[in-house]
Amino acid sequence: MLSAVIVSGGVAIRELPTPVLSQGEILVATEFCGLCGTDLEKLAGEYTASAPIIGHEVVGTVVEVNSPNKDIKVGDRIFPHHHVPCYSCWKCKHGSTTMCDHYRKTNIFPGGFSELFRVPSWNIEHGGVLKLPQNLNFERASFIEPLGCVVRSIRKCSLAGDEKVTIIGAGPMGLLHGLMLDSSTKCSIRFLDTSEYRRSFCEELGFNAENPLTNRVQTGEGSDLVIVAAGNPSAISRGFEEVRQGGKVCLFGVPHMSAQLSNKAADLLNNEISVITSYAADDQDTGQALELISSRKVNVEKLVTHIYTLQQLNDAIAAAKSTNSMKILVTPCAQPSKPN
Ligand SMILES: [Zn+2]
Ligand SMILES: [Zn+2]
Repeated sequence: MLSAVIVSGGVAIRELPTPVLSQGEILVATEFCGLCGTDLEKLAGEYTASAPIIGHEVVGTVVEVNSPNKDIKVGDRIFPHHHVPCYSCWKCKHGSTTMCDHYRKTNIFPGGFSELFRVPSWNIEHGGVLKLPQNLNFERASFIEPLGCVVRSIRKCSLAGDEKVTIIGAGPMGLLHGLMLDSSTKCSIRFLDTSEYRRSFCEELGFNAENPLTNRVQTGEGSDLVIVAAGNPSAISRGFEEVRQGGKVCLFGVPHMSAQLSNKAADLLNNEISVITSYAADDQDTGQALELISSRKVNVEKLVTHIYTLQQLNDAIAAAKSTNSMKILVTPCAQPSKPN
């Protein structure tokens, strides 16, 4: 099978042996895998949270089952979550499922940028495999994992529903926050991004977007909530400048390895700023994301600007690094279909 392998300076597409299944595992043929900002960080050696396996926004068709589990059959169209918690430890039972000791240890192998991959029995047994409804195509389903992360982040922000929200970083994850807030709340939404391409992308979707380099911090009240959907330190410090007294800053984008916060602790307390962080998603979050996508409450396909074949993964990575792109999908199929 063809598979992406991390090599020094990037990725190479190599012929690898098909994974051999242990008891309880399944083999999946990849249909689509979204390219995520964290994949780029892993390739650059900048990612800090988990082992550098690339490709996790993946959906596919089950081609082999070595499982006593009667629920999953060859031919099933599925989303397999790469990280799955235990749901029974103290942290899981108290809402911190993505901090479960098991969560980051589980993964698909060798990753989503591969013609085939293996799903561990742990993930299957703990509810990490979702079947896709017939009305949901694979392109849209590849947003289940990233939208699941957004479902979690917005839930953790505990909104009343009419807040002034500023989203820093108008990449795919920032825009998924915008689309979801727009579909489920009456919040006013404003984006900040230095890229002209991304600002006009926001405007085409009906959002306000400003350049943080030329537009000063809003005068007056400031934002009730600032979502930082970028990893660079300047985006994080801008977040603290944009939030109103008593407001919330949600750190969503994984900060770069060297990023440091230099805020005065007294300023945070005297201005009663709440800092919220949100890491990844559990299977309740991905289940909600599946529902939001298949019911078309969140029209994720608007964000797809490029589809590449697996052989073209290096072109896909180059396109993702230029800011003239939004969501990029990769498929091992020779002739990718258009999202609809
Ligand atoms: Zn991702
Ligand atoms: Zn746990």
